[in-house]
Amino acid sequence: MTDPVARDVLVRVAKLSKHFPTKLAWPKTAAAPHVIAWRAVSRMNATVKAVSEVDLEIYQGETLGLVGESGCGKSTLGRTILRLLEPSAGTIEFAGRDLTRLTRRALRPLRREMQMIFQDPYASLNPRMSIGDAIGEPLEIHALAKTSRERAARVQELLARVGLRGDAAERYPHEFSGGQRQRIGIARALACRPRFIVCDEPISALDVSIQAQIVNLLEDLQEAEKLTYLFISHDLKIVQHICDRVAVMYLGRIVELADAKTLYRDPKHPYSIALLSAVPRIDPAKRRDRVILQGDVPSPLSPPPGCPFHTRCPVASKPRACFEELPRLRVLSNGSQAACHVAE
Ligand code: SF4
Repeated sequence: MTDPVARDVLVRVAKLSKHFPTKLAWPKTAAAPHVIAWRAVSRMNATVKAVSEVDLEIYQGETLGLVGESGCGKSTLGRTILRLLEPSAGTIEFAGRDLTRLTRRALRPLRREMQMIFQDPYASLNPRMSIGDAIGEPLEIHALAKTSRERAARVQELLARVGLRGDAAERYPHEFSGGQRQRIGIARALACRPRFIVCDEPISALDVSIQAQIVNLLEDLQEAEKLTYLFISHDLKIVQHICDRVAVMYLGRIVELADAKTLYRDPKHPYSIALLSAVPRIDPAKRRDRVILQGDVPSPLSPPPGCPFHTRCPVASKPRACFEELPRLRVLSNGSQAACHVAE
């Protein structure tokens, strides 16, 4: 974990949305046979609002955690920031350049500087490609190695950097354990000397004994390579350990954004309070009552009006505001930002 002394903004996201058009099946109601047949082929248009109007700044050299229940839009936001998914609305600035205005061709040199580490490195590695070729591929795509000898030397350097032996270059993905495959994924992400890496649940598929090793490796690399991370995870303990600041997402929106220490000590948004109440604490004096949320997360196909959390909120106390007005992020008494009409 680094201390974000310099608060230079590397990534700035404004009103970023990612919506997916989809088709819904008609409800099964009694109807004439020709209507049932017609419904089978014609389906209703609908929109999945995976990410809605996200404003976010990521500072140079920091690790910004992104937490929330699965399906809340964390991975979609990470991929949209890298423009692996095209945004539906809003802007993404990287190092002062608006990525949303760039053509795919103009974006290419910037792609080098923004990489991703995936949850399942096995799925992102071609099983028929040797590890040397997999790590060397980005060097070729971005013409970063003039000769095959130069490329091989850089692959060896990267393998050593992530703690793997040089002979791994000749082997294939199935010959490695989950932790080793994640090291390979990290080496591939590092190949182009990026400045910004989106780490999408990078340890959640690994054994607990291996998780700490990968987290330590990510921290060492951050310091050595001056990296900035967006660290997506549902593991709140790991996020507390590794992140400088944390953004909490619910139903496609950021509902709280705070310094990690402040968030874990004094969460303000009722959703953050419920999430963090599940984190085990060793010190009995710091233990909190567990808040069990009732009901399911509403569908992103039809988010509720007003505050998106109002259907599960245990403290919704301003009926008109909570049920009718969308709360925006605002700065609270402890310096954190929360999107809640009630939090102070
Ligand atoms: Fe709960 Fe109202 Fe705050 Fe939403 S705005 S989190 S419903 S108190």
